[in-house]
Amino acid sequence: MRALCWTGAGRVAVRQVPDPELRNGHDAIVRVRLSATCGGDLPLLAGRAPYLADGDVLGHEFLGEVVAVGPQVHRHRVGDRVVVSSTVACGSCWQCRSGAPWCCDNGNLVPEASELAYGQAVPGAFGRPTAAGGFAGGHAEYVRVPYADVGAFGIPDEVSDERALFAADAAPAGWLAAELGGVHPGAVVAVWGAGAVGQLTARAASLLGADRVIIMDPQEDRLRMARRHTDAETVDPRHPDIPAELRERTGGRGPDICVEAVGPARDGRPRSLAERLTGAAERPPAVHEAMHSCRKGGTVVVLGEFTGQVDAFPLGAVGAKGLRVRGARQHGAGQVPTLLERMARDELRTEHLATHRLPLEEGARGYALFRDRRDGCVRAVFSPDLPPAG
Ligand SMILES: [Zn+2]
Ligand SMILES: [Zn+2]
Repeated sequence: MRALCWTGAGRVAVRQVPDPELRNGHDAIVRVRLSATCGGDLPLLAGRAPYLADGDVLGHEFLGEVVAVGPQVHRHRVGDRVVVSSTVACGSCWQCRSGAPWCCDNGNLVPEASELAYGQAVPGAFGRPTAAGGFAGGHAEYVRVPYADVGAFGIPDEVSDERALFAADAAPAGWLAAELGGVHPGAVVAVWGAGAVGQLTARAASLLGADRVIIMDPQEDRLRMARRHTDAETVDPRHPDIPAELRERTGGRGPDICVEAVGPARDGRPRSLAERLTGAAERPPAVHEAMHSCRKGGTVVVLGEFTGQVDAFPLGAVGAKGLRVRGARQHGAGQVPTLLERMARDELRTEHLATHRLPLEEGARGYALFRDRRDGCVRAVFSPDLPPAG
């Protein structure tokens, strides 16, 4: 089959790779109809994250049609249209049974890498380095989906592919951020980043009853899109002092919940081996601004996929301001069914985020548009069914 593979720092290419096969009773094979770029792909693409190997198949977010199921798959039949959670969770470990599939103990076949980096294995995910426990991703004709009853979800007929696609990753990430942040009726929520995850965090906050949502982004076209598709207010990206502006708009108190949805730097610079081994050094300005802006006793949620260490983290603010800091990188499957229901009721619309639709063969161009945010690109979406141009 054809698949979009990482082929070295900054490079991707479509290659022929073996078709995936059922390996155990809980697996399904899905024929991909659409897959999307994800902000978490960019550090991988640039070679800034360890463990990625030449030939690893990218694609964190995808949907398609079931073409084969193992004997222990009960919720899906061949022919079903399904969206697949980007995080791989088993559904039966202590974490999954406690309602935290994003902390699953079993979804990662190579736990050593994340044990070394974080002290414990994190779940596997599609389109992430296989040497770190990731699974071949969705920028391909077919994908093997482990624990298919847990991670794949039938799509209601009234929800289009372009809408349902975002139930794989961006919408659950935004929803979980709003939940972990404790969004409640009357809350004031500030979101850094008006990409897909930021916009869907803003929308989730509104649906959960936030009184006001304020979204920030350096790019005016993304802010326009956020104003059109969410209830959020925006801040002029040229404003010299964002925390002061947020205090000003909240009676001097600061937002109750501040969500970082920007992620690591996008400069595309490959990291040296020394930098990778020592884990130096992201300095994410949005995290700093969120910590400075948040009201005393408020909650800061960090969504960006930071793989290494972060310099100059304002830890003092956690104690001095009594902040809660939450993270939600591996959102898991918990939110997907209710998000699909909301999509079917037209409460949650996501198709505007798929700004560019391209054949798989144009993966390199799609990722360049996405990385550089050219031509208004929010998410590039690939379809193996579209014929290559030319
Ligand atoms: Zn993602
Ligand atoms: Zn589990």
